[in-house]
Amino acid sequence: MSEDAILAKVDRIHHAQKKYNIFISTRPVNDLRNQILSNIDDDRPLTGTLCAIKDNIVTKNEATTCASAILKDYQASFNATVVELLENNGSVIIGKANLDEFGMGANNTHSFTGQTLNPMYDDEKSSETLLDKHKYVPGGSSGGSAAAVSAELCDFALGSDTGGSVRLPAAYCGVYGFKPSYGRISRYGVLPYADSLDTVGILARSLRVTRKVYDVLNQSDVKDPSSICDEVRSKISKTVTRLARVEDTEKITIGISKDYLAKGVTPDILVTLELIASKLFESGYTIVPVDIPSLPISIPAYFATAYSEAASNLSRYEGVERGYSNIATDGSEDYKSFISKNKLQGFGNEVQKRLLIGNYNLSSEKFRDNSRKAQAIRDRLRNEFNSIFKMPNALTVTDFENAEIDAMSVDFIIAPISTTKAPKLEDLNNKRNVDPISAYVNDAFLIPSSLTGLPSISVPWHSSGSEYPTGLQIIGQYGDDQRVLDFAEKVG
Ligand code: GLN
Repeated sequence: MSEDAILAKVDRIHHAQKKYNIFISTRPVNDLRNQILSNIDDDRPLTGTLCAIKDNIVTKNEATTCASAILKDYQASFNATVVELLENNGSVIIGKANLDEFGMGANNTHSFTGQTLNPMYDDEKSSETLLDKHKYVPGGSSGGSAAAVSAELCDFALGSDTGGSVRLPAAYCGVYGFKPSYGRISRYGVLPYADSLDTVGILARSLRVTRKVYDVLNQSDVKDPSSICDEVRSKISKTVTRLARVEDTEKITIGISKDYLAKGVTPDILVTLELIASKLFESGYTIVPVDIPSLPISIPAYFATAYSEAASNLSRYEGVERGYSNIATDGSEDYKSFISKNKLQGFGNEVQKRLLIGNYNLSSEKFRDNSRKAQAIRDRLRNEFNSIFKMPNALTVTDFENAEIDAMSVDFIIAPISTTKAPKLEDLNNKRNVDPISAYVNDAFLIPSSLTGLPSISVPWHSSGSEYPTGLQIIGQYGDDQRVLDFAEKVG
């Protein structure tokens, strides 16, 4: 990249920042310039690429805030494993992308730095301001990451997906959003929302770039106890090879579950799914209905799990050892009121609400009713998915390497990502005032693969007659990430 091209790029980043509020911080121009120039002539896999990192993933060059006032001054002394891998492989970070505070949200409305706007709906890209009629939400919680990719400020971005936060913003912003199997990509240095669900995901405008980044990040990491070890990775690869051999003779089978077509899906989205299914059928794929009866109860299971884990994770931000602190200088405060003041001033409303519910769920009276029940639903859901997929589940089958591949079952499941395309900011706020639950409606499509750790991708899909794309979700068996990407390529 020439000096001029770099400066033009920096200009575009600053212009976009003013208009859409995509970043919480951006790399200083000189650092960016020097890093790009110093990488220019090598042949590492990601040389020449620029990326954005969600601001809940630590970098040692800038603050990591999780979009929360409680962490507004937090500066990590180390890079997350994913950041090390990207930089070692030649990518240059342009900035830390906005999100819903600690990943809690679906529209990027809960950030202490304000709302990110969706660049895809901007009809006058070069103008300085965005008219109200063009203000659409980018989705969340990785809305800044999706917006940065959609506005072509970088080649790819990292987000985190706990219950859909990579896939939903990808669909709203017209880009690919890939959530790999839980444990494939290291979480070391990702500030947790809900550890048993948090998964680093990749947003990009093409599958070629998605794959390149995935290949770099798909590694075991001893620093992350939930990272899949090499032995299991190699068993999975062997099984995928066996599966590919079966596929020579058997057609790929796609499952569609009516349980995914929850109330509230607009006719647009249903028609889009129907079009995709008939296109796949015409191309020779077998389409079969599948039953996942526990899908409707996955929402309470998700919220019981995620809120409880969040309550435990976020308790560390008390303003003594970690997080925002506002101590009275006259020494008049007792410890308890000092801590609660820090938390009330540091956390936003959505986070406070979730912590309250999470702590309630963890209380001794409620633990059995809520938290344990949520675990049971999670197991049930995993068994239901296992009974549908051809490939056995490496986490639950004992002799996984020799386990039978059930040729009558399905390779992938397809489902919508959301009930509608990206909402207008104004409509979203009006609706939320009347019906606060509406903000959670899309989670129904997204959380089943989060609760079960399954690889899922959002593929931008243009149905005829619609100016803007929506997302098609492809879900595969645990560990079957490469084939999910292969299939996305065939469909996209
Ligand atoms: N909408 C979900 C939530 O608010 C998704 C969160 C996520 O994936 N980080 O919990």
